[in-house]
Amino acid sequence: MLWGLHPTILFRMIQAAVLPALFYAASAWSTVIRFRTRLRSLDRVLRLCGICTLGLLRTVSHDAACMLAGFLPAEFFIRQCLVQFYLRQLTYDRDLLAPDDTHRRLNPILSPRDVLHRELLQLETSGHASQSMCRRVERRLYWPTDPSFSAWAPSVTILDRDAAISQFRQAREKTSSDTLWIFTDGSLDGFNCGAAAVIFRGATIEGQPVSLRFVGLHSTTQVELVAIKLGCEHTLPLGYFSSIILVCDSQSALLGLGTSQGCSQLSAQTRRALHTLSLHTSDLRIWWVPGHVGISEHDLADDTAKKAACSDTVPYLFDVPFCATILKCRIRAHYVSRTTDWWNSFTQGHDLRQVLPSFSSDLSWTATLSRKEAALVAQFLTGHYPSQSYLRRFGHPVDGSCLWCNAPTDDRVHRLIHCPRFDYHRQRLSQEISSRSRGTFAWTWDYLVSKGRRYLAKFLLIVRAATS
Ligand SMILES: [Zn+2]
Repeated sequence: MLWGLHPTILFRMIQAAVLPALFYAASAWSTVIRFRTRLRSLDRVLRLCGICTLGLLRTVSHDAACMLAGFLPAEFFIRQCLVQFYLRQLTYDRDLLAPDDTHRRLNPILSPRDVLHRELLQLETSGHASQSMCRRVERRLYWPTDPSFSAWAPSVTILDRDAAISQFRQAREKTSSDTLWIFTDGSLDGFNCGAAAVIFRGATIEGQPVSLRFVGLHSTTQVELVAIKLGCEHTLPLGYFSSIILVCDSQSALLGLGTSQGCSQLSAQTRRALHTLSLHTSDLRIWWVPGHVGISEHDLADDTAKKAACSDTVPYLFDVPFCATILKCRIRAHYVSRTTDWWNSFTQGHDLRQVLPSFSSDLSWTATLSRKEAALVAQFLTGHYPSQSYLRRFGHPVDGSCLWCNAPTDDRVHRLIHCPRFDYHRQRLSQEISSRSRGTFAWTWDYLVSKGRRYLAKFLLIVRAATS
């Protein structure tokens, strides 16, 4: 099957349209993972998805099609759906595993709750995440009726990137002594996070820095929001000012402050702090400036945050919720790892396993190839590629020998490395590889099936032209 849309487009379409329909409400029927026969029908659809995405031949197995096209097998996908559903419910402040009399055991053998419990234990053992980490996920807030403070929305000014420095300098020079400037920034170094705010009175160049540190699975937006909240809280005891200008370099944090329904927990807390601050001044302005463009006051906040992230003497903040996106990625990584283990647990050899030892849903290798080239390479990698030995294996009336040099076995290795019919093309492509990689790579099996797939595609097109 060499026609159709490009693999990357088809992959997205299947992810957006087929998988949500196929696994609709999978968390409710997740106990199906006990029955191999019931999973088989789902796996058949996933195999077809893999075949359509990459243009594979119809003889390819389910596991090879899914592994190469980047679709998790049905069993792991359902398990992942269940844990992600648990996490999503936690963001709505609903703990599905909380002790509750209303959760009576309807199924005496196994309920989705039991499956979830086991999955979370495995997740904890793997080290990717744990139930306690999931329980610390940041809540999304939905209001039945808007609380009073949500009627107030901070007004954010986005300074033009090119004119930011001159605009900012002019504003700083004209500043009266009754104006307060707050510069905030956050720093993320793995699990270590630092949030800082530097407060300047009027046009003075001496700032008052304050910082906090915390540890965990946090996003840059969260760190920035903590920094803004910190700046607001430290400004309140300083008294009344005619004007307060808060300067931050995170657009996602500032734009999130304008959301009422579905806003994050930290966003709501920061907005509340800004609202309280607005009562202590007649003019509260919030500016976004690009980071690292030479604004010394903002660079000071950045340095303070970086130092706070790796310092033991800075005050520690305990109750910062974890980022849902990071937790979701870690849950995904857990199931990718389990799929790889499953893939490597087959006792029989597999043509694809030699070139694809671990699961990946990354189809970027097809980006520089046409649909036809990507299909030929994918067929070649799975071993379901129309060489003479493949045709004999699937019952065609051929003896499996090479059409051109009469070698007894015409398989993938023979065509790619040995067959003299393609010596000229092999030599030409080999020179191209050598000159482009400055002698680092050569015409070898390992290179062609991994990093050199675009040269493999060129070679396969030549072979196809010779056979047709
Ligand atoms: Zn040959």
